Amino acid sequence: MTKRYVIGVDLGGTNIRASLITSENEVVEKMKEPTGKDPLAVLHKLLDSLYAPRAEEIGGIGIAVAGLVDRENGGVFVSPNIPALNGVNLAAELEEKYATCIAVENDANAAAYGEKVAGAGRNIGNFVMITLGTGIGGGIVIRNELLPVAAEIGHMSINVDGRPCPCGNVGCLELYASATAIIGNAVAELERGTTSILKELYNGNFYKISAEDIYRGALEGDPLSRTILREAGKSLGIGIASMINLFSPDAVILTGGLIGAWNIYVDAAIKEAAKRAMKELYGRVKIIPSSLGDDAGMIGAARLVPHPCTK
Ligand SMILES: [Zn+2]
Repeated sequence: MTKRYVIGVDLGGTNIRASLITSENEVVEKMKEPTGKDPLAVLHKLLDSLYAPRAEEIGGIGIAVAGLVDRENGGVFVSPNIPALNGVNLAAELEEKYATCIAVENDANAAAYGEKVAGAGRNIGNFVMITLGTGIGGGIVIRNELLPVAAEIGHMSINVDGRPCPCGNVGCLELYASATAIIGNAVAELERGTTSILKELYNGNFYKISAEDIYRGALEGDPLSRTILREAGKSLGIGIASMINLFSPDAVILTGGLIGAWNIYVDAAIKEAAKRAMKELYGRVKIIPSSLGDDAGMIGAARLVPHPCTK
């Protein structure tokens, strides 16, 4: 018998989001709690309130996690932003309590699959999705299926003598093109004394500025804000060009908070990718925004649960 819902969870460094996903990929009963120090306790609390009232209608639990996952065993190898999950077998942990099928996937991979089944990638057979936020992640869909690979696009090196990255590499894409990088570069320039309207915010405490502040500054014509966003976009474009050369996708789908700065940051990325990717491959790719936003990970994780679940 087909169950009415699958629970989709997005387990991130800041928040844990959970909801019921219908077979038509509608997201209902959305819930959100801060991840905090004990993410497993928060996860159990959210699952209890979604699962308990309708256990017989639940056909599985899909979990998207920020980190490297052991998808075969439903575990987390390492999660830099949620260290409490390092080495935790989420499936084993949850199967004891909930008699249903559990799937565990990396959050960016799950989001790519969400866009495939219900979003901007619905009619696209081959695409690379890049998540642009605090860090940079990715997911790859080939022939309508999610590739079961790490797709750590943010840790692709774009600079042979670049800055050291906590992952062990140097010059990683996310050190130049993420929101963290954009804020860090702005703060460094302000510390150096560069003139900018960013200094007028937060009573001059520029350590509080966000990527949105920098985007607003750029829209108001602030040269520093514009330069920083364009430079970050250029770095992103180098990464996009490599993804185009590797996978010859039909599309590159961009998602995450930074796509709000599409007309400056993404525009610079597109120009750089056009210069660097192989012409024949660039000529057939479109670079487009995601359509599901924050719900993509929950939907994708839910759809990765074996169906029908026989547990
Ligand atoms: Zn790295």
